[in-house]
Amino acid sequence: MNELKLYFSMISGDMYYIEEDEIKNMNSSQLPLIGKPKDNCKKCHGRFHQGYEIHKKYYVPCSKCFKKYIDWSAMKHEDAIIETPRTTSEIADHDFIMEAEKGNM
Ligand SMILES: [Zn+2]
Repeated sequence: MNELKLYFSMISGDMYYIEEDEIKNMNSSQLPLIGKPKDNCKKCHGRFHQGYEIHKKYYVPCSKCFKKYIDWSAMKHEDAIIETPRTTSEIADHDFIMEAEKGNM
């Protein structure tokens, strides 16, 4: 039995399970998660994203759930590059979240 792993796609804004064997086919816009965010999160309501960034063309990960639910060990050594030169470390950066929030309001 393959173990299922939860992923979030910043392109589609969906969470879905993938078999361990398929993980090598994943691209960098797909983020490994350790679990589903809680429905009562005030920012994402359990969707893990807080809205679509129309200029950058991806779903902005929830600033409250991002650090808590990303499976950092499964991120390997590479950062997910969603838009050059932005990386997931920069998304985790508070200033960038604030900037993204301002753009969404
Ligand atoms: Zn959240």
